[in-house]
Amino acid sequence: MHEMAIAEGIFDIAKEQAAKENSARVMKIGLLIGEMAGVEEEALRFCFSALVRGTLAENAELSIKRVPLVGRCGACDYEKPIENYNFICPRCGGGLSVVSGRELRVEYVEME
Ligand SMILES: [Zn+2]
Repeated sequence: MHEMAIAEGIFDIAKEQAAKENSARVMKIGLLIGEMAGVEEEALRFCFSALVRGTLAENAELSIKRVPLVGRCGACDYEKPIENYNFICPRCGGGLSVVSGRELRVEYVEME
């Protein structure tokens, strides 16, 4: 499952941070997930909790922030939120390219 691979990546980052800080417990992990990142939040939470069972991140809370999809016009630089997969610039008819909404990253790791 796609979400399992993502959960593993997140767990690896948390473990690395914990090792760096000599921490025995991860309390909270902040995630930034774009609307277009193709991540099912519930599936990710489920995979993560299965993965961390019995580890230093067992009780870690996943704090997920969704990033809306925003496009910018290549011709006139106009920026707008993208709705209904409409990538056409309302100003000039040019094509919008995605400037945010595809990210998937760990923002912070809180440890005890
Ligand atoms: Zn435009």
